[in-house]
Amino acid sequence: MVPNYTISNKTQHFLDMEDAHGAHNYHPLPVVLNRGEGVFVWDVDGKRYYDFLSGYSAVNQGHCHPKIIAALVAQAQQLTLTSRAFHSELLAEYAAYVTRYFGFDKVLPVNTGVEAVETALKLCRRWGYAVKGIPENKARVIVCAGNFHGRTLNVISFSTDPSATGGFGPYMPGYEIIPFNDLPALERALQDPNVAGFMLEPIQGEAGVVVPDEGYLSKARQYCTDANVLFIADEIQTGLCRTGALLACDHENVRPDVLILGKALSGGTVPVSAVLADDAVMLTIRPGEHGSTYGGSPLACKVAMASLEVLRNEDMAGNAARMGERLRNGLKAIGSPYIRTIRGKGLLNAIVIDHPDADAAWELCLELKENGLLAKPTHGDKIRFAPPLTITAAQIDECVGIIRKSLTIFDK
Ligand code: PLP
Repeated sequence: MVPNYTISNKTQHFLDMEDAHGAHNYHPLPVVLNRGEGVFVWDVDGKRYYDFLSGYSAVNQGHCHPKIIAALVAQAQQLTLTSRAFHSELLAEYAAYVTRYFGFDKVLPVNTGVEAVETALKLCRRWGYAVKGIPENKARVIVCAGNFHGRTLNVISFSTDPSATGGFGPYMPGYEIIPFNDLPALERALQDPNVAGFMLEPIQGEAGVVVPDEGYLSKARQYCTDANVLFIADEIQTGLCRTGALLACDHENVRPDVLILGKALSGGTVPVSAVLADDAVMLTIRPGEHGSTYGGSPLACKVAMASLEVLRNEDMAGNAARMGERLRNGLKAIGSPYIRTIRGKGLLNAIVIDHPDADAAWELCLELKENGLLAKPTHGDKIRFAPPLTITAAQIDECVGIIRKSLTIFDK
């Protein structure tokens, strides 16, 4: 079934160099990129591809968005880092901007997504002790099976993916894992008075874009309110217009107690993440109890404001909603027997491959690459389709054509 793809000498040179000197903690497609613009990236041989991963949804605004890059360059020439030992005018401006944008009292700025998750969990435990009155060291946080919240030792402690946890124990206690999209299980878990929070992805991204039933988020929110438990939404992948609304929680008018953002907060330029919460939660952490050297740097603040401005000014939520529907309809119209499921919201979508060959999704991705579209399998048989939110209708139609053509490898 698998055609023998040729790899240019130039590409092979970089593949070999990375293999020899870089850790083997990823398994990328054999493509070496060196340029990006909008929905496209180019490889070292000058071949152009549609980017259907968007840096795991970090590049919602499109590669090298001119307004974000202009902000990045201008700020890089003025002041990049002060550390939090001193104030910066940009941190003040960004804090006011981002809290108004999302409607929370306070922001705590960090760098990577998993750092923001760690921050939210620390805040949750602290709130549990200081405000809810949970006895010392007894606080628990409920999470969902199939979750992906990052890769630190604490965060993998509550992963259900053996490739994330295996060989990295011992694990951090204090978590209870319940099935995703299971309200009775949540209700039962909330009976424990030592539960401080419930943390979830509103749509499970890495698990293969698992969308919960309508009403799940709003009911879960209500249960948490009733149990005096913080509802913590990890919108690192689902947020910032990806699902056709500013936040995935907005689809059910849910306001989390703690909101975690990352990825597209910097439009794919530098790592910028954030935790937002109201004073009753955020002010439980005092000076010296949490922080990071680069978090809230002037450069990060400037880029984040430009990234958020672009999302709003260019109606990226609206385009994601419209183009997502067009993409799913286009995929359905292919009517391929090799696609078992098509699911998603906005431009966060996945197909599940139906094929006896365990490597079929990987092989389809190789063929998609050959035909000018980059996507990556997740958990074996699922392929995420998440292009930048700037994609046009004509481009979606062209991409559906590429996917249709690529699926014919299974007929050979
Ligand atoms: N949370 C979610 C929902 C994610 O999708 C990811 C990354 O894919 C993370 C957390 C971790 O973010 P980072 O890789 O920036 O640490």
